[in-house]
Amino acid sequence: NERELICSGCGVKVQTENKDGLGFVPKSALERNILICQRCFRLKHYNEVQDVSLTDDDFLKILNGLGNRDALIVKIVDIFDFNGSWLPGLHRFVGKNKVLLVGNKVDLLPKVLNHNKLINWMKQSSKELGLKPEDVFLISADKGLGILELADAIEHYRNKKDVFVVGSTNVGKSTFINRLIKEFGGDEEQFITTSHFPGTTLDMIDIPLDDGSSLYDTPGIINHHQMAHFVTKNELKTITPKKELKPKVFQLNEEQTLFFGGLARLDYVSGGRNSFICYVSNEINIHRTKLEKADELYKNHLGDLLQPPGHEDVEQFPPLVKHEFTVGEEKSDIVFSGLGWVTIEESARVAAYVPKGVGVSIRKALI
Ligand code: GDP
Repeated sequence: NERELICSGCGVKVQTENKDGLGFVPKSALERNILICQRCFRLKHYNEVQDVSLTDDDFLKILNGLGNRDALIVKIVDIFDFNGSWLPGLHRFVGKNKVLLVGNKVDLLPKVLNHNKLINWMKQSSKELGLKPEDVFLISADKGLGILELADAIEHYRNKKDVFVVGSTNVGKSTFINRLIKEFGGDEEQFITTSHFPGTTLDMIDIPLDDGSSLYDTPGIINHHQMAHFVTKNELKTITPKKELKPKVFQLNEEQTLFFGGLARLDYVSGGRNSFICYVSNEINIHRTKLEKADELYKNHLGDLLQPPGHEDVEQFPPLVKHEFTVGEEKSDIVFSGLGWVTIEESARVAAYVPKGVGVSIRKALI
């Protein structure tokens, strides 16, 4: 059958290969008279949003479209992976539209982290990255923290306009939208549908607001620098923190190395005795060794002593790439995109290693 099959809910072309992609239907469902993609199916039957990911090309089309709309844009980032979940091009496309920046997963941060300090840091970082949000919020979509305050701000800033929620995959956008649906649009009367985005074949979740405007959930955008793309689904569970981070402190002398499973490595190249405070998932095993032994250890023990990646995934795992940093007088964080960060207290020269393609950066210490 050569006919192109279309989802009757949202109009996207259906496919049976990629479960996480747009328009997925199980092969067995192709026989049915009325085809509906998995995303629309779940939306219809469970009032539940399931995220799909966008290609870069579709992302550009969406961004281009946003600037032509008169709308409020709510951009969600994962505060645990701020740079990895940032959407680099967004500011060039939003036009005159206002942006609210939302940091999700605040429940993961150690209690000692001052929220105002983090908000200020996010404002500062946004500015450096070219985006000027109207306001910045911290929430936990999962635990329901800060949602009401954010909802009030959305109501205030949208000024009767439509709202677009954007974010890269894994920032918690679906969790956030589902919470909004539950708290505000949860009654049976509310009819949540999908609608097309002009100029594309993309469907968006359209959540009606009470004055005739809509809140749109845009598909999640893949950010290729996220660690998430280099590990299996199971490993992602290990490296994604689920509970408040418990910092682990290492007193190191120069020429010592820390391994974070087999995913990342930090060499203390030179400096005096120094504190390295690691903020990573409590489930990641941190292994300390001598710098001179590190290469060999990695070669011989990736997949067993040093894991994730698991034994069977070692073959596909990209080689680690070295990035050198100098820590000055000021306490600094070395940030491993998607994994966490290490605070270094005193001046030091270090080398950070991450899989080729994953982001690593240095910043003024958050804590
Ligand atoms: P999406 O790809 O942006 O739609 O992200 P999801 O909503 O699917 O969430 C991605 C992952 O982050 C899931 O494992 C969620 O359980 C988790 N998550 C979402 N919100 C929160 C939160 O507020 N706190 C924590 N700790 N995890 C969250």
